[in-house]
Amino acid sequence: MLAGLTFYAPAWLGGVLGLFIGSFLNVVIYRLPLMMERQWRRECAEFTGQPVPADTPAVFNLSQPRSRCPHCGHPIAWHENIPLLSYLVLRGKCSACATGYGLRYPLVELFTGGLFYFCVVRWGWSPTALVWCGFSAAVVTLAMIDWDTTLLPDDITLPLLWVGLTAAALQWNPGVSLNSAFWGAVGGYLSLWLVYWVFRLVTGKEGMGYGDFKLLAALGAWFGWPALLPIILIASVIGALVGLWFKLSSRLREGGYLPFGPFLAGAAFTMLFWGAPSILLFLGLPT
Ligand SMILES: [Zn+2]
Repeated sequence: MLAGLTFYAPAWLGGVLGLFIGSFLNVVIYRLPLMMERQWRRECAEFTGQPVPADTPAVFNLSQPRSRCPHCGHPIAWHENIPLLSYLVLRGKCSACATGYGLRYPLVELFTGGLFYFCVVRWGWSPTALVWCGFSAAVVTLAMIDWDTTLLPDDITLPLLWVGLTAAALQWNPGVSLNSAFWGAVGGYLSLWLVYWVFRLVTGKEGMGYGDFKLLAALGAWFGWPALLPIILIASVIGALVGLWFKLSSRLREGGYLPFGPFLAGAAFTMLFWGAPSILLFLGLPT
């Protein structure tokens, strides 16, 4: 039924939709970690029997309060919040205090728009394109939140895993059977869990977090078990290159720790763009 919409909806419309979703993702990337922190503080206070700290502002979720300039608090009007366009018109600055917002907001929008466009071009207006657009949005959000906070929220990794398994079960994900998705999820979790414990026993340090296991489990569910090894390989190569670049330009943060989630995301998008089968073939692995 959805295939019939092809005539009425060109692929660029998918790209435009992606721009708006990307704009929303910027809000999620900024607010979800703050919402989680609030919740933890509340739970800690309740657990230790201390008075629950008062929240300011009282209501804080993904839709409220309205977006404000982080510098001067100027409320951002709807016409200052149009993806890309507003950024270009305002030249990336707050209309009240002229503080620059940086390139990451429009880049997240542009990247999400590009991913949505790609999915619609590749799969048409179909359930397959829809679920892969959802996948893209979730993975962009996870990568950015992990980069900022070194956290991969369960609120995103676990639904990503379940939707991946469901898409395979409904045969919405061509080339990935439910069997392959299931073992991809199990293998994804266990392989990083194993690396974690070996690393910990050898060095006494924690090389990654449980969020990384859950993210790779989700990627296994979306790409199938044969894709796990290339995903880990590609993520490690990207991680090594980024780490080296940060070291050479002495931009490494305190403790020298780089989160692994963004590199897993980079590997996932590499697989999405080129397709798991051609990458497996290129690496000489069974598909
Ligand atoms: Zn401002």
